[in-house]
Amino acid sequence: MRKPFIAGNWKLHNTVRESLELIEALKTSVKDVTDREIVVAPVFTALASVSRALQGSNISLAAQNCYPAQTGAFTGEVSPSLLKDAGCDYVIVGHSERRQLLGETDPFINAKIRALAGEGLGAIFCIGETLDERETDQTLDVLHTQVTAGLKEVPAEAMARIVVAYEPIWAIGTGRTASEDQAEDAHAFIRGLLQGLFGLSVAQEVRIIYGGSVKPDNVDGLMAQEDIDGCLVGGASLKAADFSRIVQFA
Ligand code: PEP
Repeated sequence: MRKPFIAGNWKLHNTVRESLELIEALKTSVKDVTDREIVVAPVFTALASVSRALQGSNISLAAQNCYPAQTGAFTGEVSPSLLKDAGCDYVIVGHSERRQLLGETDPFINAKIRALAGEGLGAIFCIGETLDERETDQTLDVLHTQVTAGLKEVPAEAMARIVVAYEPIWAIGTGRTASEDQAEDAHAFIRGLLQGLFGLSVAQEVRIIYGGSVKPDNVDGLMAQEDIDGCLVGGASLKAADFSRIVQFA
């Protein structure tokens, strides 16, 4: 049984004060949820304060990025060990905004995942195709490349802490969601890739979550699909009422 995993990616939004207000509202509205893993990813500057506010709650903390080294001459970067020190359990890696806007490559993303694994931290590993790639029938090739390169030389034991997020780029922040069938097909394909890389039992345990315009009114249908184990939520995670409804999908 895979425990549903619902994560809110706050992206570049919210001051420390706004983050704390959102977290207090969320803590109240999801306080009785025990059968789902709930995660929020604030901006770096709010991590320590949000971490303190989350003490004793049923919500975990994620960072939105890391650098794949623990210390050194890397001006402006933040390491997995510092994120762990700040109270993070997970780090988002490979988000399409970083791949597209900042030129992050599969090998760089792989280095981050291995660095996180070495520190015992979880990764929310994002993959997904562009609209052009979908329309030219390249979706499965793209997913194959991203999964095999991103998880290269990652130890099978680390997969228990890695969540794969399928996020078709054409559905992120666009209001356009993948259909339930499109999403399920991609998730089932990714699970098959994981089976090829790590074996059946690992593939059956890894959570594969969907991201791309998840909202209160489409979450129930997505979560009813066999291989969809949760959601990575951008825009709708900024409103406590919407995110709490998504967490409490039917
Ligand atoms: C995201 O950025 O990971 C995301 C899924 O955003 P949105 O929910 O706004 O499409």
